[in-house]
Amino acid sequence: MNTEKQYRKFAADRMLGKLARWLRFMGQDVIYGPHLCGYGLIRAARQEGRLILTRDRRLKQKQPPDFLFIESDHYREQLRQVVRACNLEPLALAFTRCAECNALLQPRAKEAIETLVPPYVFSTQERFFSCPRCRRIYWPATHHERMLAELRKISTPESGN
Ligand SMILES: [Zn+2]
Repeated sequence: MNTEKQYRKFAADRMLGKLARWLRFMGQDVIYGPHLCGYGLIRAARQEGRLILTRDRRLKQKQPPDFLFIESDHYREQLRQVVRACNLEPLALAFTRCAECNALLQPRAKEAIETLVPPYVFSTQERFFSCPRCRRIYWPATHHERMLAELRKISTPESGN
């Protein structure tokens, strides 16, 4: 039971782009794109065993597999809802996945990325990761700290439990 706790595969509908990115920051596997709505979303979720995240109230008339109706318009509340409903630990897998294309990031040796990042970044950072799909390079920096603070806030239960 516990092994599944930190992780779940998701299919987010096209109204939930920001939520999808934040779930990816948390290391969750989320498919998202303009083609993912209505039956396209249902088909993708069914094929890959994903939980559908949707703001579309009409979706349930289309007999979808498991889905979670997202209540709020605001990504913070949306994220909180998903974290709570799926019992996720927001920091457990943070920054292990590319926010743009959902691929798992790979650690890169500092020497290997010298020509790929700005000189200032190269001289001030020690740890680098790259996305095998879009080749984007990631490193812990200030925006990363702000996101961690955000995730910490979300992982703190507001009331009792
Ligand atoms: Zn990528």
